[in-house]
Amino acid sequence: MFKGIFRKQKKYATIPSEQAKRDIPEGIMQKCPRCGAISVTKELEKNWKVCKNCDYHHALSARERIGITVDEGRFFEFDAELVSEDPLHFPHYLEKLKKDREKTGQNEAVVTGECTIGGYPAIIGVMDSHFRMGSMGSVVGEKIARAADRAATKRYPFILFSASGGARMQEGVLSLMQMAKTSAALERLHRERLLFVSILTNPTTGGVSASFSSLGDLNIAEPEALIGFAGRRVIEQTVRQKLPDDFQTAEFLLKHGQLDQVVHRSRMRDTLIQILDLHTDGGENNE
Ligand SMILES: [Zn+2]
Repeated sequence: MFKGIFRKQKKYATIPSEQAKRDIPEGIMQKCPRCGAISVTKELEKNWKVCKNCDYHHALSARERIGITVDEGRFFEFDAELVSEDPLHFPHYLEKLKKDREKTGQNEAVVTGECTIGGYPAIIGVMDSHFRMGSMGSVVGEKIARAADRAATKRYPFILFSASGGARMQEGVLSLMQMAKTSAALERLHRERLLFVSILTNPTTGGVSASFSSLGDLNIAEPEALIGFAGRRVIEQTVRQKLPDDFQTAEFLLKHGQLDQVVHRSRMRDTLIQILDLHTDGGENNE
């Protein structure tokens, strides 16, 4: 069996090793994490970053999401300068924040602002899973609460895209407090009969799924998004039951009444325009 090792001449054609296959240059080509299909990044971007082969919805950065959602040149950011402190002196937290700021070009895991969508004014928030896994620390909570307050003051609808691993452990209880703070800010919108649309994207879990992202007047998700509070294994151990395979997927939650709609990314903007149209009563934007 060792005979072939020292041969100088190659007997077989070289095929790239598993490692080499994984190391596809990020910029030009991208590999689908689900089906393995390789697409030219530009082509993928033209297709809303949805895999043409298996329909997998690749994660979007906040900027990319804003780019495909709002009217061109009609986004005005709020509170971009807010940055997290390190209240618990958690080891390496500040370094990690710095690294993610450099990587994403933004200060925190959510971008908020005022925009128009199909001509309808709205306040928008978009979480970004590339920044600390979209986890919710004090700044994320504060920016979302302030965005909701602005929506209330201006009497605009509030649209929020979630993508989050949950509360940010490095901020401990301060992070958990954001659940109450954001929920209270949304309650004001509710009292004033203003529209809040929550769009849950892959993944929306933990304290984010257990607070603002489940409080929409309409809760919409992208196909196959993972949405849940605790992980599958924890629940299985607690209830001592095997959970269905599609448990915690958008489709499962739609079937069981926790979501109102599952909307493909290619139709998300049109769907939002339709919703905004339905909820705007003869305003200046209606013809
Ligand atoms: Zn795919």
